[in-house]
Amino acid sequence: MKVGSDAMKHKKEHAYTVKVKVSDLTQYLICPRLVYFRAKGHEQTGIAKGKERGIIESILLKELAFNLHIIYGERKGEGKGKGKGEEPESEEASAKIIIEDIVDGVEKIYKEELKDVEKDLFEAVKEDFIRSQSMNMENDKWLRKIRNENGLLELEEAHGYEREHTMVSEKLCMSGSVDKLIRTEEEVIPCIIKTGRCPEYNVWKSDRMQLAAYAMLIEEEDESETTVKKGFVEYIRTAEFRETQIRRRDRALALHILKRVKRIKGGVFPDKGVNAPCDKCVFEEMCETKKTLLSTLFGK
Ligand code: SF4
Repeated sequence: MKVGSDAMKHKKEHAYTVKVKVSDLTQYLICPRLVYFRAKGHEQTGIAKGKERGIIESILLKELAFNLHIIYGERKGEGKGKGKGEEPESEEASAKIIIEDIVDGVEKIYKEELKDVEKDLFEAVKEDFIRSQSMNMENDKWLRKIRNENGLLELEEAHGYEREHTMVSEKLCMSGSVDKLIRTEEEVIPCIIKTGRCPEYNVWKSDRMQLAAYAMLIEEEDESETTVKKGFVEYIRTAEFRETQIRRRDRALALHILKRVKRIKGGVFPDKGVNAPCDKCVFEEMCETKKTLLSTLFGK
């Protein structure tokens, strides 16, 4: 009995230390000081002025990525919804209906993220999005990328996926929510959705590191002999679906950054990132003040 309660106490204490998120690791790669300021409670609230349109577009694109199976299913004529005796819809009308259907209800799903966005602006961006994506669907090149030889969508069609699967590892003191998790008989495959630029080849280093962090969380969660060997990155803006192997060096990088993030969250003020985007950073003023203060104190 005593052993059990001790174990429970230990577990509770251990759980208390879980405070690093996978998103902290990706932030670290942009600039380690972002992790510092956020850990100090300076989380940016709301959407920065001038960024609203970009944020709304990213949310709409992400929702599109979660529903690509609808577009993929159209290949087999599953999604047209034609009843007996009904006239088939034109390609243009069909594309518009599909996109409208996908983005319908987005404001409810992303209620928290969109709470400060004006309704009129949201509706205007949504309308533009429906128009441009409908054109994309009529654009053969974009559609071909979705429908032809798409390893990821074939896997999704065969095995389904779990959306935004959340994992917590007490051992790693890390948690994270992976966009899509596919489980086949042989393997577990994490997938992340990116609304930014797609690299010419393969995937960005930060995306490989992020997949490696999820791989480690999955392996901790499954408590089996599972080794996550590969993942997918969906660069949805250009409909590029990249499969990538999760290598030792990606895992090593994720663990290295995890250690650094823990130190920062413990109070260490880090150096700025090599390519830190200071000109569009909400912490710019705070960062300068802190630097000046440290220079005064330590003559740095
Ligand atoms: S101002 Fe620059 S160095 Fe400071 S947190 Fe922002 S990006 Fe990093």
